[in-house]
Amino acid sequence: MAKDPLISVCGAGGFIGGALVADLRAQGFTRIRAVDQKPFDQWYQRFDDVENLVLDLQGREACVKAAEGAHTVYNLAADMGGMGFIENNKALCMLSVLINTHLCMAARDCGVERFFYASSACVYNGDKQKQYDVKPLKEEDAYPALPEDGYGWEKLFSERMCRHFREDFGLKTRVARYHNVYGPYGTWDGGREKAPAAVCRKVAMAKLSGRHEIDIWGTGGQTRSFMYITDCVQGTQMLTHSDFVEPINIGSAEMVSINQLVDIVEEIAGVKLERSYKLDAPKGVNGRSSDNTLIKQVFNWEPSTRLRDGMEKTYAWIYDEIVKGRKSL
Ligand code: NAD
Repeated sequence: MAKDPLISVCGAGGFIGGALVADLRAQGFTRIRAVDQKPFDQWYQRFDDVENLVLDLQGREACVKAAEGAHTVYNLAADMGGMGFIENNKALCMLSVLINTHLCMAARDCGVERFFYASSACVYNGDKQKQYDVKPLKEEDAYPALPEDGYGWEKLFSERMCRHFREDFGLKTRVARYHNVYGPYGTWDGGREKAPAAVCRKVAMAKLSGRHEIDIWGTGGQTRSFMYITDCVQGTQMLTHSDFVEPINIGSAEMVSINQLVDIVEEIAGVKLERSYKLDAPKGVNGRSSDNTLIKQVFNWEPSTRLRDGMEKTYAWIYDEIVKGRKSL
């Protein structure tokens, strides 16, 4: 790699992008470009010593500004959220196809050396995720294609866009299929939050208000695996600078039910709550977890932060955010 390469992080105002910028700074990178469409004061992590650009990356010219002179482009920008958002905003999710398509074109035209795309476990065939005790998903389970409607189809299409830019234009694209990422500095309210943050918020609110109740979407039996943010950021950089070209799972193999996730947060918070199950709320597939055979084989590595440890940090951060913001209880 060049001595002081320019790294462009797209979606830097969001959860994973913000954590990646923080990590690059901590490693000593001095030329970092952070790009997001949100007004700067709404970015989750802000650093004055990096080049911060507020741009709508659905447009091609904005993508050229993001990619110009960059050695590496990380595409972490997407219009997304948890199940409550993606089940009700399929067109918005699919419009993120413009971001990746224009970024691929700009990266090719600007001579970018490495291009990373954040795909998702939502690309996996829905028929393989019908049981709570699901078989962990292997990379080959994306085909025959039956991804999550809207969001998952966009991810699968964009994965293939990356593949063809690599094959036809020589752009070094790398694609990770993230499985649920959680941690501090993520979305925890407003409708786009995912299960770990939502559970932390609900438990913290219950504790602070003294109303010891919690509503849970679905039966609580649905299973998932959750990856802590530091593992995500580490795996992302490892993959981006590797020679491995196929989409690969970056996710935790520690599968739990949503009820077990609530047990963990209750225990961290030191409360026990009355559970009320919202059976008509969006809940996604019944079971989903990451099969890490491939990543262990290729990198001799897999995300390893224990859920209990990551949730402890996440709960503490969300609890503080609630107290700081004096959210109405
Ligand atoms: P996030 O919503 O926190 O961050 C995404 C950022 O992209 C936001 O800050 C948003 O403002 C920005 N963005 C959206 N549209 C834009 C546009 N047109 N121009 C510029 N910026 C735009 O989400 P995240 O959790 O950080 O996710 C990052 C990536 O990882 C996304 O592609 C997401 O689909 C993928 N992913 C995340 C998870 C997860 O659990 N967090 C799981 C699978 C895949």
